[in-house]
Order: sequence, then structure tokens, then C-alpha cells
Amino acid sequence: MTPASYAPVDVLVIGAGNAAANAALSAHESGASVALLETAPEDARGGNSAFTGGAFRFVYAGVKELLALAPDISELDLENIDFGTYTEGQYFDDMGRLTEYRCDPDLTDVLIGGSYESALWLKKHGVKFQPALGRQAFKVGGKFKFWGGLACHIHGGGQHLVATLHQALLSAKIPVLYETTAFQLLMDDAKVQGVKVRHRGRVYELRAKAVVLACGGFESNAEMRTRYLGPNWDLAKVRGTRYNQGYGHKMAMDIGAAPSGHWSGAHAVQWDMNAPAFGDLSVGDQFQKHNYPFGVLVNARGERFLNEGKDFHSYTYAAYGHEVMKQPGLFAWQIFDSKINDLLRSEYRIPRITKETANTLEELAPKLTGVDTAAVLETLRAYNAAPRPDVPFNPNIHDGLGTSGLAINKTNWAQKLDTPPFHAYGVTAGVTFTFGGLKTTTMAQIEDTTGAPIGGLFGAGEIVGGLYYHNYGSGTGLVAGVTFGRIAGSNAAAFARQ
Ligand SMILES: Cc1cc2nc3c(=O)[nH]c(=O)nc-3n(C[C@H](O)[C@H](O)[C@H](O)COP(=O)(O)OP(=O)(O)OC[C@H]3O[C@@H](n4cnc5c(N)ncnc54)[C@H](O)[C@@H]3O)c2cc1C
Repeated sequence: MTPASYAPVDVLVIGAGNAAANAALSAHESGASVALLETAPEDARGGNSAFTGGAFRFVYAGVKELLALAPDISELDLENIDFGTYTEGQYFDDMGRLTEYRCDPDLTDVLIGGSYESALWLKKHGVKFQPALGRQAFKVGGKFKFWGGLACHIHGGGQHLVATLHQALLSAKIPVLYETTAFQLLMDDAKVQGVKVRHRGRVYELRAKAVVLACGGFESNAEMRTRYLGPNWDLAKVRGTRYNQGYGHKMAMDIGAAPSGHWSGAHAVQWDMNAPAFGDLSVGDQFQKHNYPFGVLVNARGERFLNEGKDFHSYTYAAYGHEVMKQPGLFAWQIFDSKINDLLRSEYRIPRITKETANTLEELAPKLTGVDTAAVLETLRAYNAAPRPDVPFNPNIHDGLGTSGLAINKTNWAQKLDTPPFHAYGVTAGVTFTFGGLKTTTMAQIEDTTGAPIGGLFGAGEIVGGLYYHNYGSGTGLVAGVTFGRIAGSNAAAFARQ
């Protein structure tokens, strides 16, 4: 179907990523006729969802819930895997602590309360899960122990997720209109009536009884990044899709929708300094470099500038991209020795990588492009010489193996860099998605600036404002997209029936 052959539907979903596909399936299962609009061509569909590694954070009381989701887990050596639990309370604690207690309590309640059900919903639609061994649990003394509440990933990551959801859309005969960019909401005095779109240079008006905005954040739009996140954010690399340009935010606010959430905040990580300007689906999320807790990070002045071992990477990685943005030249180098090689994720072994190796730190230092050689050697000497308690290194717990006496101490996992060969990775900031969104009710209705729901307008995914501030726990974005997508779809269908 193209905009020229479009026949009005009950629910028109803007976007074709995780939140959009789940909203469409949910509206369809609620009896509505549905179509999706995707600004990208078919081979680039699926937005940021297609770029994800598939981390999926949900509540579970023990291995029983995980087995219901991923039966293959029964074939593992369960005696030697401690999955622990991830209770609603733990999830709330993480959301509260990471957002500095700003996350909207009602939306957070919906997110957490619906998280396991959302995983089962995906399974029902054909998505497969696998335990996140080696990423969220390391093998120590022959045993794996999960530390971050994130027990499962989507098998095959975002590409499997998007392909499977689009197969479900196809089976349900829900059309996706590609290369179709929504840029204006059509509104009579009582409710939204559809959208105006561009398709191959022509403009069309597509009518519908309800519209779901599931068209992501504004991270791909350099002008909006600079305007809302601040100076130099136009220079950041974009980790994912080039298509999330903030149209959803703009067109909703043009008809009076209220902005909500942390508009000057974003999820940003350490990302290969020579990665392309936007994500490359053939590389996916592999430009990310998240194992800095096991090494040392230095800037152009050769100085350490943050506590690499403050917490597990899941709880610092989304904020530490911002710290790299504050450094001269907007880059840093991660430095490791060879003791921790087995802990490094696959991202450290891809062919397209900014990497240097050497047998001594003295040989390594001059290879770190842009870094003051003498200063970095002094920093590494001081780091190695700093006093440490006599406790064993253990990557599965906050081991307390911290330095003391440094201007910035590393508080966990601070082994000395003493085992050659040494290796270093050049990183800059990669922006993942923006935190600013629209004011959304727990029924996924978008509110206007007076607090009244805008008739016929719903939101799901990154466009929902109020969940993330300052920081983010890995694996939350996908689960939020499914949960609010399901709610938006069923409520949009109910609205269309009225
Ligand atoms: C590299 C990377 C790795 C990540 N890893 C994880 C992970 O492991 N786990 C996790 O939970 N989260 C992860 N995230 C975050 C996750 O991708 C997002 O939280 C989630 O995918 C957002 O889903 P969404 O449906 O809201 O947006 P998207 O998936 O970005 O979908 C937005 C859709 O809207 C379309 N669109 C945009 N504007 C328009 C318009 N005007 N008209 C029509 N269509 C439009 C886009 O083309 C796209 O199809 C990762 C992100 C990146 C970039």
C-alpha cells in the first residue's frame, strides 16, 4: 500500500519500530483496522529498535519465570548459574536512583508492572529470548552470577525483533506504508483526524479515527540536539537510525501537546571515535565500548576524569557518554591490560575498531592519538601506585577493590595495569536516544498543555516523556516500547470504536 492507495483505517500508527509494531498488533487484536507509516525505505525500517542488542529488563521472581520465556534455559548447567531475582521493588529502586527520583511514578508503575507480561507478549508473537550470560553475569570460580537484574536478551537482537514483529504484522494483514513521512496532525475542534504525509515528493492527507505516535526521539536531528541538549551535541555520533528527526514531538506540540520529561537529557555512551555519523545496521551496536569498569579512561590531557568502577556498566554507561562530551576534543581512550581479556565483550574484537596495542605502557602512550604522552604515563603510574585494599577482584560484585589517594579514585575492579600486552580503544560520545517527550497518561493518551487528553492521540516508545532523567538502566527502552505500545494500541482501538 502507498499513500495514494490508502483507505482510512481506525488506528494509524506513526513509525515501524518496536513500540509502533506492538501498538499496531495490540490495536488489531482489539478489533481495529490498522496501518503503519514508516519514513524509512523497507530495508532500513524499524528505527533504533533494529539496532539494539536486545537487552530486555523485566521483573522475575526466579528461574521459573525465565523458563516460561526461554525454555532452552533448562538445558544449561543451572546448578552453576545464579539468576537471582529482579523484584518490582528492585526495579523501582533502580529507576528512582538512576533518574535522581524524577521519573514519573505512575508511568514507572505501568512500565514495571507490565514488564514481564510484555516479555510473554513478545514470545507469543514469535520473539525468542536467551540468558545474558557473559554480559550480565561473569564466570567466577566456575559459577555465573547475575548482578544487574537483566537476565535475558532477545535472541538475535534488534534485527530479529523487528523482523519477527513485521512478520506478525504481515500475518495479521496490517500494511506498512514505507517512505512515508508524517509531518502534520490533522485536527478538527474535538479530535485528531489523521496526518499529513510526504511520500516521494508528494503530500497526502491520510484520515484515521485515532493516531498513535511511535516515531522515536529527536536524536538524529543535529539542530534539535544542539537546541535541547546543548553546544557540541551536533557533533555527537548517532548510534542508531538516521530517521528519528523529532517530527512526532513537533507535530504534537503544534496542536498543543505538552512537553514532558528531561528535554536537555539523552542516553549517550562511549562509541568508537571513528564510527560513521549514523548507525550502520551491518555493525549494529558493536561500536559501543562498555567494559571500561575493568580499565582506565583518559582524556586528551592524559588525565582520568571519572570513576570507571563506580557501578556495573548497566548503571553508568548511558551517563558516561556525557562525560566524554565534556572532554577536550570530545574523545577519550579506554586502556586495559591483558588480565581482563576474557571479560571483554565481542565489541572489542570487531574489525572496524580504533585500537592500539603495545608491550609496555611507555610504547602504548605515544600511540594514543591526541593524548599528552608524558601526562598519560604519569596518570597510569599514579594509578598503578595508588594503595588498594587486599581484596580479590570479582567482576560479579562491587568488589571494593578501589584506589585511594587519587584525585578521582576508582572504587571497584581497580586492578593494576601490569600484564602485557596493553590495549587501548578510542571513543567519543554516541547518542542513543533523547529523553524529552510528550506528556502521556497511563492509558497512553497524549495530554495538551492544560492537562486534558487530546482526543484520538496516543503515544508509545521514546516519545513518552517522563520515564528517564539523567541516566538509564540498560534494557529499559525496549520493554517500555512494548508495554506502552500494547496500551496505546488497545486504547486507540477503543477510542476509534466510540
Ligand atoms: C545502538 C543501540 C542499541 C540499543 N540497545 C538497546 C537494548 O539492548 N535494549 C533496550 O531496551 N534498548 C536499547 N536501545 C534503545 C532502544 O533502541 C529504544 O529504546 C527503542 O528501540 C525505541 O523504540 P521506539 O519504537 O520508540 O523507536 P524506534 O525503534 O526508533 O522507532 C521509531 C520509528 O519511527 C519512524 N519514524 C520517525 N519519524 C517518522 C515520521 N515522521 N513518519 C513516519 N515514521 C517515522 C522511524 O523510522 C522508526 O521506524 C538501543 C538503541 C541503540 C541506538
